[in-house]
Amino acid sequence: MSAESTEQHEFREYVRRWLAENAPQPPPFRLPITAIEVMHENQRDYLQAWQAKCYEAGLVGCDYPEAYGGGGHEGFQRIANQEMGRARTPFLINIVGLNMAAPTILVHGTEEQKRRFLPGALSGEEIWCQGFSEPGAGSDMANQQTLAVPRGDDWVVNGHKVWTSLGHFAKWMILIARTSKDHKYDGLTYFLCPIADHPGVTVRPLVKITGESGFNEVLFEDVVVPDSHRLDDVGKGWTVAMTTLTYERGAAESAGGSSGESEAPLDALVRLARESRRGGGKASDDPVTRDAIVQRAIASEGLRWSARRARVPALTDHPMRLPLQQKLVFSELAQRDARLGVEIAGARSTLYKLDPRAPDAGRWPLSYMNSYGHTIAAGTNEIQRNILGERVLGLPKSK
Ligand SMILES: Cc1cc2nc3c(=O)[nH]c(=O)nc-3n(C[C@H](O)[C@H](O)[C@H](O)COP(=O)(O)OP(=O)(O)OC[C@H]3O[C@@H](n4cnc5c(N)ncnc54)[C@H](O)[C@@H]3O)c2cc1C
Repeated sequence: MSAESTEQHEFREYVRRWLAENAPQPPPFRLPITAIEVMHENQRDYLQAWQAKCYEAGLVGCDYPEAYGGGGHEGFQRIANQEMGRARTPFLINIVGLNMAAPTILVHGTEEQKRRFLPGALSGEEIWCQGFSEPGAGSDMANQQTLAVPRGDDWVVNGHKVWTSLGHFAKWMILIARTSKDHKYDGLTYFLCPIADHPGVTVRPLVKITGESGFNEVLFEDVVVPDSHRLDDVGKGWTVAMTTLTYERGAAESAGGSSGESEAPLDALVRLARESRRGGGKASDDPVTRDAIVQRAIASEGLRWSARRARVPALTDHPMRLPLQQKLVFSELAQRDARLGVEIAGARSTLYKLDPRAPDAGRWPLSYMNSYGHTIAAGTNEIQRNILGERVLGLPKSK
């Protein structure tokens, strides 16, 4: 059922060949599981160099217009992403830049903003972070208290953002701030805010249960943002943020990237079961473990067919059903995988990442703890279920 054109097929062959020849050697230090746990400069440098190399080779931003640093070939990014996933190459570090900032700027930016910001986001030269969440504004995202007040040709920002992934390495932030207290939604405006070494900005790392510190608090004290860095109109911030969330939650193709896991989760679980002991034999011979792995395989197969179904218009009853499910399904599956890995490894799961005897270098307990973040980040799964219920199933609106 391949509807691939000759040009697309040739591109796929090119990407496959290029990745086989250029996949980087593993670094001499540990890489985190995903981009939102990158905390050391050596990890950043290695991943930034890899993104730059992929970009130079035409594997990132393939669908973006050439005028903005892209490849100018619609439909190619999906192919590049699939091949990067298949080759299990490292993830691209600039996930906020690629998956949120770039597509939002492409939709809402001025010509000047697109030319200024898109090439650096695609190449990874300029790392982005997202400043949406605040201590009192998570699920209730419109409750933003960070204030932006006009002053001449600038805005002066004061406030407090939290859970800002990659904030410690970011040059720019996509920022929502309140520009009017009289309207909840229409009082919000969207900015492209300088972060690194910018006067008045303080970035404070937050440490997670895993001991990693991939996210931060970001404090703004009289931070000056030029009006030329406002994205779209004053008061349109909510609408612009909805564009960002559509991409963040996977409802539209990103500008590039792969999961970066060196082994497919199902393969890793099967291998772990073969290497682990259960009831005097191998865990892979234990009927309960076998059943759990088969259930996982069935889920994988279901997802594979759903992805194919999504590409056949006659088989899609509601255009947003499958895209909106993505974030929900994948984050919960990752959580299930990690739990199963911990169960299979058994008592050895208590050996953590720095213990040389830990199975798979401590991957399973680390993934297990990290997997909870993914059901919260990008809007919690409860909120995502509300959206699916209301927009796809047509259920009455929740309060
Ligand atoms: C790993 C990670 C990375 C993150 N990175 C970023 C980032 O880079 N930038 C950024 O801006 N934010 C980031 N976040 C923040 C994330 O978007 C918020 O944590 C999320 O939106 C939830 O907000 P909250 O934590 O304030 O929880 P709350 O909104 O206080 O929710 C608490 C609980 O109540 C439930 N709940 C709330 N309202 C409803 C409702 N209407 N119906 C049903 N249940 C409801 C929620 O599901 C949740 O279980 C990140 C979070 C994590 C975990």
